[in-house]
Amino acid sequence: MRRKTRKIVPKWEEIFASLGDGLVVLDTERRVIGINPAAERMTGFSAELVLGHLLEEAFSENSQVLKMLAPSFREGRTTTLREVPWRGKREEKAIVDLSATPHLDEEGELVGWILVFRDITPIKNLEEEVRKGDRLAMMGTIAAGLAHEIKNPLGGIKGAAQLLAREKLSPGLSECLEIIVKEVERVDRLVSQLLTFSRPKSLSVGPVNLNELLDSVLRLQQEPLGRKKIHLVREFDPSLPPVLGDGDQLYQVFLNFIKNAMEAIPDGGGEIRIKSRLMMNFKIKGGEGMKPVPMILAEIHDNGTGISKDDLEKIFTPFFTTKEKGTGLGLAIAQRVVHEHGGIIRVRSEKNHGTSMQIYLRSCA
Ligand code: ADP
Ligand code: MG
Repeated sequence: MRRKTRKIVPKWEEIFASLGDGLVVLDTERRVIGINPAAERMTGFSAELVLGHLLEEAFSENSQVLKMLAPSFREGRTTTLREVPWRGKREEKAIVDLSATPHLDEEGELVGWILVFRDITPIKNLEEEVRKGDRLAMMGTIAAGLAHEIKNPLGGIKGAAQLLAREKLSPGLSECLEIIVKEVERVDRLVSQLLTFSRPKSLSVGPVNLNELLDSVLRLQQEPLGRKKIHLVREFDPSLPPVLGDGDQLYQVFLNFIKNAMEAIPDGGGEIRIKSRLMMNFKIKGGEGMKPVPMILAEIHDNGTGISKDDLEKIFTPFFTTKEKGTGLGLAIAQRVVHEHGGIIRVRSEKNHGTSMQIYLRSCA
């Protein structure tokens, strides 16, 4: 930015246009006679749309908010509204601080009003993130405390049930014991997942061969894949460079995606396609200090139940599950780990047609 050192006379037009706060200038009839670019941006209405119109007409979508400025217009004093919702032309929603101040001329006569908008949506979003973070941190502390309390008796229950199973029991009772063991294992998994989610481990990063990693995940899923009559198609790029990552944590991530794909396939069977590919022309900047590098794409595609539009927004939210025995933590953990790797996840899904999970990771370039 060049700076002029000579003394300058203020040019109000320029100042008006450069200001970060949004200004809307009204005449005594409350007709809009000026709007600066910041206000166009914040209100979502362009100058052409509002100039010459009465305030209430120009921003008719916001009549409730504008009504709250009435005391200012009636009594000629300043009114300030804090954190009010504002609707833009295309229905976009923002949170703004808004004030109306009488505009007086040199003799102190009222010549109109000046409205000042300050868009506080980003601050509000940040506050929400922090609140969420606080909630999660608290949940972590509770979970960690509870985990030990729960895991020990669980071990006891499972051990006792397995001891009982050695006895000669009626078929009905043996079945009950099997249920006890199975359910204990489920609670145990939930507690472990909860711990992983609330107390993330730090990454121990190195070059990881993604094709081998995917193979090793699939090796252990042969039995359920066969049982569910799932046809598996591998389309691996044989010359794939390694990704930069934590092998153990990425293993868990891909295990989650592959399990979800298998669970989405109905009883009649289906297909899962797993691809890996180097995206030479696709570079993203990771976190701070990470330079842009080519990305590696791993895609897990299933032709299972698909995800409805409504659910699609929620699948990464902790505890969101549509499964009777789900924990709703798999994708929440996967997303955290992928983000910590400077990667991203994209989802394409269509109800009743299937789902594609695309995981982009940084190559070791
Ligand atoms: P869980 O598997 O325990 O339900 P996840 O976090 O792994 O938890 O997944 C959350 C939800 O996202 C699932 O309950 C399911 O509704 C949806 N989902 C995830 N992957 C798929 C998929 N491949 N096909 C259909 N739905 C899926
Ligand atoms: Mg899952």
